[in-house]
Amino acid sequence: MRIVLVGPPGAGKGTQAQYLAKNLSIPHISTGDLFRSNISQGTALGRKAQEYTSSGRLVPDEVTIAMAKDRLEEADAAEGFLLDGFPRNLGQAEALDAYLRDKDVTLDGVLDLEVPEDEVVKRIAGRRLCRKDGAHVYHVSYNPPKTEGVCDVCGGELYQRDDDTEDKVRVRLEVYHSETEPIIDYYKAQDLVVTISALGTVDEVTRRAMEALGAAESV
Ligand code: ADP
Ligand code: ADP
Repeated sequence: MRIVLVGPPGAGKGTQAQYLAKNLSIPHISTGDLFRSNISQGTALGRKAQEYTSSGRLVPDEVTIAMAKDRLEEADAAEGFLLDGFPRNLGQAEALDAYLRDKDVTLDGVLDLEVPEDEVVKRIAGRRLCRKDGAHVYHVSYNPPKTEGVCDVCGGELYQRDDDTEDKVRVRLEVYHSETEPIIDYYKAQDLVVTISALGTVDEVTRRAMEALGAAESV
């Protein structure tokens, strides 16, 4: 399956992607994780991205689209993928469509996670990530690790993202409304969107997502 996850920052995209990717046997591709890993390794791409990620603005399309395409070219994405955080504006959505058209494949669905803004702010304020693998996500109260400050999966140290502060979350939410939400209508016009509530426990949301994607697949 080829799926795109959309939803405001803090909706639970990364959290759900971990489970969905496993259930569906497809790779989880997060442009946010790719940028963070480039930044922590000090690559040229990371240096270009950092001023944008740390202020909550979108990294320019030419950098982002090239990085996403490179990742999609890797062998594990040939038969399917779960894109998390890409596309994030209309230019990126059009670039992805052109890329898929070239490969003669199409998206199977766009899963839209809906969550009220006050919940987003609470989720982001308590978010902690694993410094070692970057992909495992915790919350200090909603989804705490077994040992405080330590990743359950790989034992890495947990940290708080520098863009998970209230002022930057506000910028990211504005960017979401103005730049990312329009892609939902773009995909609705292609009849690809399934919207679910991202409220409830992580397991409840995963179950809802699997049902919705099952429905998307049978269309
Ligand atoms: P969140 O999980 O809070 O939605 P991400 O980890 O997806 O945030 O993204 C973190 C930051 O990385 C964004 O605020 C933005 O600066 C950058 N970024 C991630 N994906 C994209 C993208 N598709 N286009 C441009 N910038 C991106
Ligand atoms: P996104 O990738 O959309 O920015 P994350 O998956 O990183 O969102 O989740 C944001 C925060 O909310 C994390 O701290 C995560 O542990 C927590 N979280 C995710 N799903 C839920 C849920 N269903 N209920 C409560 N907290 C959640």
